[in-house]
Amino acid sequence: MNQPVIDLRSDTVTVPCEGMRRAMAAAEVGDDVYGEDPTINRLETRLAEMSAHEAGLFFPSGTQSNLVALLSHCQRGEEYIVSQDAHTYKYEGGGAAVLGSIQPQPIELAPDGTIPLEKIRAAIKEDDPHFAITRLVALENTIAGRIVPQDYIVAARELAREHGLSFHLDGARVFNAAVGQGLALADITGLFDSVSICLSKGLGAPVGSVLVGSHDLIARGRRWRKMVGGGMRQAGIIAAACEYALDHNVERLAEDHALAARLAEGVSAIDGLRVVDGAARTNMVFLDCTGGDGEDFREWCATRGLRFGGRGTARLVVHKDVNAEQIESAIGIIQAYFADRRD
Ligand SMILES: *Cc1c(COP(=O)(O)O)cnc(C)c1O
Repeated sequence: MNQPVIDLRSDTVTVPCEGMRRAMAAAEVGDDVYGEDPTINRLETRLAEMSAHEAGLFFPSGTQSNLVALLSHCQRGEEYIVSQDAHTYKYEGGGAAVLGSIQPQPIELAPDGTIPLEKIRAAIKEDDPHFAITRLVALENTIAGRIVPQDYIVAARELAREHGLSFHLDGARVFNAAVGQGLALADITGLFDSVSICLSKGLGAPVGSVLVGSHDLIARGRRWRKMVGGGMRQAGIIAAACEYALDHNVERLAEDHALAARLAEGVSAIDGLRVVDGAARTNMVFLDCTGGDGEDFREWCATRGLRFGGRGTARLVVHKDVNAEQIESAIGIIQAYFADRRD
């Protein structure tokens, strides 16, 4: 029998389990543009409460949720300070600039996943017609699997406050950050003015993100969401999958982190390979081929049923649809590649 492919490209490749599909089929729904979908309303309230915010807003994607957050915080001609590697800067098609005339002020990320505070301070512009108006600082947690230290977040929040700036978190994987530190979600999310949370990453829902923030911000966001085409009708069908994910798939993120740690350990002794940081980052493992032929490595593994991605550096992401046995197989395939190369 053919072995199923071990797909470590991303935690977005998970598919809904039977229980999640049953919850979707049974979902009570209504027209959410009229505010009448009970399942969506329940999900928005639940995530708002869990994250210590006043209100929530359901989105088809994290990209749209982040975009609407930026549009709701910033006016035309204003800017947001963000890291060079952030999803909200690099991987969202420049949406805030295209659709909002909002300028990003990207800053190089430090190796620990933080934007150095002195660089943020230096980038904040004074009131001068030459400059865009600095309005927002946007962080990401986890960022490329790294947990952003809590004391850094607190200090960055202070800096933002000091300058009257809003403070947004791209929390696509904030549940990984919470579980990875044994914290409640609100311990992290409560430090921000708004947070975008993905249910479709490690939590395993097929679609769905929620933006949380104040009543006022979410009211503005609702208007922007309509304009960018995100007003959905009986979308309780997908909100039910998100509720199921919150009920069943939060605590189990710790299993993904443990398997990622095992994967990192299993390949750490291989000659010609370097585990970036020497260990897993929550549910991700990054690998550098010291010989430099990352493309050949990726293709060789893919033909043997192990898929992963990454630009240059290989990125292997553990999620609910891979088990311990498959991780052992993945280690074996990677070992075989480097053994083969030495022969
Ligand atoms: C996946 C992701 C998003 C949102 O992506 P969508 O595919 O649009 O849901 C935002 N930020 C980060 C860090 C992500 O990994």
